Amino acid sequence: MSGYATEFMDAVRAKNSGEPEFLQAVAEVVESCSVVLDRHPEFRDAKILERMVEPERVIMFRVPWQGDDGEVHVNRGFRVEMNSAIGPYKGGLRFHPSVNLGILKFLAFEQVFKNSLTTLPMGGGKGGSDFDPKGKSDAEVMRFCQSFMTELQRHIGPDTDVPAGDIGVGGREIGFMFGQYKRLRNEFTGVLTGKGLDWGGSLIRPEATGYGCVYFAAEMLAARGDSFEGKTCLVSGSGNVAQYTIEKILDLGGAVVTASDSSGFIHDPAGIDRAKLAYLMELKNVKRGRISEYADKYPSATYTPTDPSLDHNPLWAVPADCAFPSATQNEINAVDAKNMLANGVSLVAEGANMPSSPEAVHAFVETGIMYAPGKASNAGGVATSGLEMSQNSMRLSWSREEVDTRLRGIMQSIHQSCVDAADEYGTPGNYVNGANIAGFMKVARAMLAQGLV
Ligand code: GLU
Repeated sequence: MSGYATEFMDAVRAKNSGEPEFLQAVAEVVESCSVVLDRHPEFRDAKILERMVEPERVIMFRVPWQGDDGEVHVNRGFRVEMNSAIGPYKGGLRFHPSVNLGILKFLAFEQVFKNSLTTLPMGGGKGGSDFDPKGKSDAEVMRFCQSFMTELQRHIGPDTDVPAGDIGVGGREIGFMFGQYKRLRNEFTGVLTGKGLDWGGSLIRPEATGYGCVYFAAEMLAARGDSFEGKTCLVSGSGNVAQYTIEKILDLGGAVVTASDSSGFIHDPAGIDRAKLAYLMELKNVKRGRISEYADKYPSATYTPTDPSLDHNPLWAVPADCAFPSATQNEINAVDAKNMLANGVSLVAEGANMPSSPEAVHAFVETGIMYAPGKASNAGGVATSGLEMSQNSMRLSWSREEVDTRLRGIMQSIHQSCVDAADEYGTPGNYVNGANIAGFMKVARAMLAQGLV
């Protein structure tokens, strides 16, 4: 790191000391972009990076709601409006007990670069709550969502800030929040994405993050004259991203042998075929059950419960060619990365946001495997949210083929931008630098043009 970058990080650390994930996300961008700042003193003089790490606005609010048994609960709600230089704030809402300001600042910061890469006009934001939807009834989730939106609605709008889903927020939650927004504001607009198909949603949006991630991986393979045909893949997670990652890998001729949730993982050496995937989707989306039930149903699979005393996750030690971390941040540590490299993994494409620790990222980059950071490889989700916004503005809907073709085109374009930026700044093949630099440039140029705001 240059002297400027070191000083910059010291200052950011001093100001945001209780936010390790945010500091981790910023450090990675600064490491990649210090070469850009050396070449562009105008960005340094205008303090572009210093401005990028300060959210334009943070909203934090109380969310009171009542359980089915009459008990009163109080959660914390947030929206981090990080950067609007290239479009309205855009990014998901996460409902998970681990949510706090630092986690949402990291996610909002990543979102700025990711959205910039999509080629669409979207700024970056993120929000959510420490509410845990697990084990709650539909009625409880509805009351929570209505209370959450009763406050959030005054801060968002189709041209201001357009939230969507993330961990713990899917079609059900978006429906409840959209209903409450519409009721309070008396307007039917594209204020949220990930809506149902009958009320303004886009075809392919549910599939988009997983499909996009596999499309990105296919581009990396094609650049080396290879394909998914015959490849064994590890997938972590079993939510929306994992499910459609598995589906697209099957479409392209690969095999998937793992899936997980917070309690443990399954290893199915026979492969998760389409019938098993349909069962997994039903189990997770409708029954809201646990992944262990997969191994009860399919004797070809073994179930390994999560063991917090281990220094690694045995899922990542299963021999394979490719890995698609699709669960959550920092799910791959240095030991996991070593195990993956020792057991044949030569491609990692992140479906989750920042699933690899900095040590793991360095291990992947140093060995020169194909490694795609989430802000590039999982951008298909928010890109398709951007396509949902376009369709809402035009008041029409595109066909499945039309949206899928655009998604694939966007992922190809993101891949090319990463390759070009990495080449231009002297680190060919380094998708981390490529994604950070390409994402940064567009936002930095827009901020410079718009003056000191
Ligand atoms: N939560 C997703 C992400 O991390 C999607 C955001 C959106 O569609 O706005 O990019």
